[in-house]
Amino acid sequence: MSNLTYEQALDGLMAGNKRFIDGNFSDKNRDIARRNELSQGQHPFAAVICCSDSRVCPEILFDQGLGDIFVIRVAGNIADDVVMGSLEYAIEHLHVPLVFVLGHSKCGAVTAAVDGGEMPGHIGCLTSKISPAVEKAKGMDGDHLYNCINMNVKIVVEELKEESHILAEFLEHEKVSVVAGVYDLETGIVKTID
Ligand SMILES: [Zn+2]
Repeated sequence: MSNLTYEQALDGLMAGNKRFIDGNFSDKNRDIARRNELSQGQHPFAAVICCSDSRVCPEILFDQGLGDIFVIRVAGNIADDVVMGSLEYAIEHLHVPLVFVLGHSKCGAVTAAVDGGEMPGHIGCLTSKISPAVEKAKGMDGDHLYNCINMNVKIVVEELKEESHILAEFLEHEKVSVVAGVYDLETGIVKTID
């Protein structure tokens, strides 16, 4: 179990993002000693749900090492039952103090949901999960795609809180906190959103 509070966990991620932005990478927890230590068990200090996009690697953009963060990646950073099950494992068994739901600029999955139309294969399963965010963001000021990306992250956070009883219970006892954010592909900055 990580002994960090959720504030310390969030500070840890944001400090790592700052190092990434500056190109000042840490080599912490990336050595043989760490690998050996982790063979006895994992104690990540945060769970991150983010997109599969190859440009959005949480270990890199938060500058973290082996065993530091528990990552669940799926296109469009949506929350289905499988994602929720993975998250519940991180909360219930690994006792992560922080859950970070991370969207990103220019997300292809959100763009596909905005464009609409027929999707081949199973891609429609993804876009149909994002469509409510697209509907809700209609008529908002500013860039529509950006608003949809923000809205999608917010809706995922709400879904997690409503549908995961394990998360709800841990939230109630203040054993975990959920934070939403968006990563900017150009600047490298992760911005938290309310
Ligand atoms: Zn994406």
